[in-house]
Amino acid sequence: MFKAVKSLFEALAFEYKDLCLQCRLCTPVCPVYLVTANRRYTPWYRVELALRVFRGEPLSEDDIIALFTCTGCGACTLACPFRMETWLFIHLAKCVLAMRGKAPPSLIRTAQAAEKSLHSFTIDPRQPTRWILEGGVRREGGEYLYIPTPVENTFYTEEAIAKARLFELLDIDYTVSLEAYDLGGNIAIDLARPDIAFKALEKCLREAEKLGAKYIVISECGADHKWALTFSHILAREVGESIPSKTFTPIHMLVQRVLARRRPALKKMLQAALFSSCTIGRHYPTLYKYLKNIAVSMVERLEEKPWKHRYNACCGGSCLNVVRERWARDLRIRIGLERISSFNSQIVLVPCTKCYISFRQALLAARKRDKKVKLVTTALLETLGANERL
Ligand code: SF4
Ligand code: SF4
Repeated sequence: MFKAVKSLFEALAFEYKDLCLQCRLCTPVCPVYLVTANRRYTPWYRVELALRVFRGEPLSEDDIIALFTCTGCGACTLACPFRMETWLFIHLAKCVLAMRGKAPPSLIRTAQAAEKSLHSFTIDPRQPTRWILEGGVRREGGEYLYIPTPVENTFYTEEAIAKARLFELLDIDYTVSLEAYDLGGNIAIDLARPDIAFKALEKCLREAEKLGAKYIVISECGADHKWALTFSHILAREVGESIPSKTFTPIHMLVQRVLARRRPALKKMLQAALFSSCTIGRHYPTLYKYLKNIAVSMVERLEEKPWKHRYNACCGGSCLNVVRERWARDLRIRIGLERISSFNSQIVLVPCTKCYISFRQALLAARKRDKKVKLVTTALLETLGANERL
């Protein structure tokens, strides 16, 4: 797989050499630059560093940090006259470095643990067993194999259980498996280790086949979406392999389709804001439509911001959530706080577990009690729970 990363990296490096005008229109939209005003944390400076990685030139510790401060939000692409996929180019540079063991120390440690367990965080390998068994979650065969996000099966197990309850309430024929609890998105994107992530993904695909599940439900991690829907396919193509793309069903698409079919009379919340997230808003606009339909069905007055504007597409958490160094925590909190404070509504609905963590931690750090952050599916479960069973 290293071969695939290298060849994609090479193709993008040539594109950058030919096309990038150094116009720097990407600078004012970068969320990290906006909160730090540090020129090292601009997209174009990171592109220069990525080109140095490509040429095999040595990088200082500060250079490596500058690359790993990129959240992968893609706001720079929206500002670029050529729509250059800067996030991907920077990301591939990170992958090359990480596979050579040159990443921030906390990421190297997490990747070493992930190599053994095929789990993104490996807080406690028994954790998935606990929430599946103690949560009374269904394990026999179903049409959909639900893969929770690594955050849900470690820190926020109540969110994984809430998802299972939602499926039951909507009569979605699902199952979960102790053999398939990490799709590899966080490993491929946040840890920049697609080589390890492929093993986690293959394990889930094998398990779906064994259980006779037709689809794998991608839960609410933006990294899983990027990985399962796009990045893994590009890399697999590069080495002549194929991954069945029809296998994956994003959770919001599934839920919205069921809701549209059944048209339940929901008890609506008066007002809430909807955050788009970089993955859904920037990378998969079609998914944003599903998400918005779910939100509209349960909120009277929906506050929304155009995700194309400045860094509306970034919660600060993507790629930074798993970095344990102090600089990453500070950046995440500063970006998250700025972002969530820009909404007037007290409740902010988010589609992604990374946004959920970032905003929660930002609110906690600033001791702001006037706002609450909720995952869209959990809010829907609460709204449905207040109604009769469908
Ligand atoms: S992907 Fe986002 S964080 Fe990374 S360089 Fe572009 S705008 Fe900045
Ligand atoms: S906006 Fe595009 S062309 Fe301009 S410096 Fe950034 S990457 Fe290069």
